[in-house]
Amino acid sequence: MLDVLRSRAVHKRPDRVRFQGRVLFLTEDPDLVRRQLAGHDLEWTAAAKLRDDISTDEITPAYVCYYYDETLGEFPYVGLKCRHEFPISRGSVRHGGFAVSVSGKRRGKGSSREQSPYAERCAGIRLVIAENLERIYRENCQNLGILTTTDFSIIERVRRGEEIPLATFTRGEGEITRGVIEYGGLFNYNVARLQGKATVALPGTPPRPMTLGEKILARHWVADPAAGAIGVPAVRPGDEGFVLTDIRFSHEYVTPMAAIFFEQLMGPEARVADPDTVLMFRDHLTFLPEAMTPERVKEGLLDIALELEKKQRTFAERQGIKLYGELRSRRRGAEAICHSKILEAHAEPGQVIIGSDSHTPHAGAVGCLAFGVGTTAIFNSWITKDVRITVPETVKVVIHGAKPDNVTAKDFMLEILRHPYVKSGGAIGKLIEYCGDAVAMLSVDERATMTNMTAEVGGFTGYVAPDQRTVEYLIEARGLSRMQAEALCEGLASDPGAAYSTVIEIDAARVRPMLALPGDPGNGMPIEDAAGPIRVDIAYAGSCTAGKKEDMDMYARVLRDAAARGARVAPWVRFYIQCGSQDVKRYCEDRGYLELFREVGATFLEPSCGACINAGPGVSKTPDEVTISAINRNFPGRSGPGQLYLGNPYTVAASALAGYVTAWDPDAGRATHA
Ligand code: SF4
Repeated sequence: MLDVLRSRAVHKRPDRVRFQGRVLFLTEDPDLVRRQLAGHDLEWTAAAKLRDDISTDEITPAYVCYYYDETLGEFPYVGLKCRHEFPISRGSVRHGGFAVSVSGKRRGKGSSREQSPYAERCAGIRLVIAENLERIYRENCQNLGILTTTDFSIIERVRRGEEIPLATFTRGEGEITRGVIEYGGLFNYNVARLQGKATVALPGTPPRPMTLGEKILARHWVADPAAGAIGVPAVRPGDEGFVLTDIRFSHEYVTPMAAIFFEQLMGPEARVADPDTVLMFRDHLTFLPEAMTPERVKEGLLDIALELEKKQRTFAERQGIKLYGELRSRRRGAEAICHSKILEAHAEPGQVIIGSDSHTPHAGAVGCLAFGVGTTAIFNSWITKDVRITVPETVKVVIHGAKPDNVTAKDFMLEILRHPYVKSGGAIGKLIEYCGDAVAMLSVDERATMTNMTAEVGGFTGYVAPDQRTVEYLIEARGLSRMQAEALCEGLASDPGAAYSTVIEIDAARVRPMLALPGDPGNGMPIEDAAGPIRVDIAYAGSCTAGKKEDMDMYARVLRDAAARGARVAPWVRFYIQCGSQDVKRYCEDRGYLELFREVGATFLEPSCGACINAGPGVSKTPDEVTISAINRNFPGRSGPGQLYLGNPYTVAASALAGYVTAWDPDAGRATHA
């Protein structure tokens, strides 16, 4: 396979670029956006406030990602919410002749979907300008050959038709990122690397105290690809290179696009390197037929979405890759959500894992370095087994003290997400090390809620250093002997004297059950401070974040109390409980939870992403419907058009019973409304 690449022609792009097209400002004011789409070029001033926090869900909403070819160019920004309106419609960006797209802070937050920059590229966008860009989105742009900058002075130069030196976009970048930009994308860069045209210098960092994240990267560093030498003595933030991965996984939302890139560029006969370390999942869309609106079905979108499953299954079969598929019986559902299964059955302390999904850090709960990458990085890793990396700085989050009984890891995360450092984007692209005695007290399941939501923090990844709880987890969940489990965890701790860019300290005793108001998981506040009452129509208890065994214990704890009092789910509430894997379902069956859930009026669902990705029972249908949900993010449109509030598993169950957003009070056995 590599011989094909060694003989392939590859060149750098010209060292000056000119952008032929208009500039599109994504503003808060929907009328300004509409005027630009109608052909008027905006004289931009600071008064025309740019949209901040544009998520990839807004650039390409979930249904748009059923397409995985150039049709995506019809859709960029169709989910962009400007005040209460969606001013961009299908085809309008492509037809507007735009080459540059401008927005404010934290562009590209949320899902790692590469469909977003790919849709932009297919619509003609060649340059993205923003105050700052989220890590995965920015890398995806680079991997696809879209230029990015935070320098707003470029706008006038573009408009004057100036040729701009390519160096403008590589300034300050490390050697590899510069190479990826110069070669017009990751695949071309990797070809140049294999041909020896692009070389990667070893970091040369002398031994130094390292954080656990840095240590894992140093152990996996590709030192000499030709000789297969892996590992360097030390790394420090800013070092660039490639690291060998232990596991690479993708799901049906991404695999088809990656497979097409792979087959187009490598040829139909090419084989994935080391397929035993590649995993695929059918998890996102198994319930879609129940959630898609009749209008969308009429447009043919259901048929297009079902193609994703077929394309992934065919590719996995041809390549000999293990696929966790959908249920074969008449029931809808999946064997497991990817993150749930990776943690339950595959991740080991000290590994490097990449996944085609922003919540890949979930597996960091057992002390591995797991991070999300885009489609291009995944398909490149099928060839090279490695992934490019710039060593991030590490942020330490210390949570100490004893938490109240009705406070969970979810509340810790909603508290962290409203911290000014995180809200201002300070944690973007960083390693997040969660520690402190309150974290040490958490189970691995609860730690996974924290590492999972590192995606919302904007971090590169999050992890908890392995300890005795990790050992017990590996014995119980994996059937390892104590000696094997301890050997896996050996030496996996940050060094005394390791450097942290920031330390955030949280007193667990002061954390209260939290509520994130609709729009962003960073909109958190204690439930007791939220203006209420907030009447709910839907309660959703599931997803990778909240479909684990311990989450089920929490739902059951609240509901058992209720059942004992003869209470049931409020008559106007639809309450769905959805587990993350068949293992979790068996756990529920063994403990009699399924009967309990039925008894109080909840609907139990087989594993799948479902409502979390606007594709299953539990989605809202109208803008005024209110949902309380245990999922990880509530960006506009994430789970239907309604108002999506986030809370912890106790809160979701208590709210379903009360019919209002409600913090669970374990002493009273009932609760107080917001
Ligand atoms: S459950 Fe939600 S957050 Fe988790 S992988 Fe699925 S879509 Fe992503």
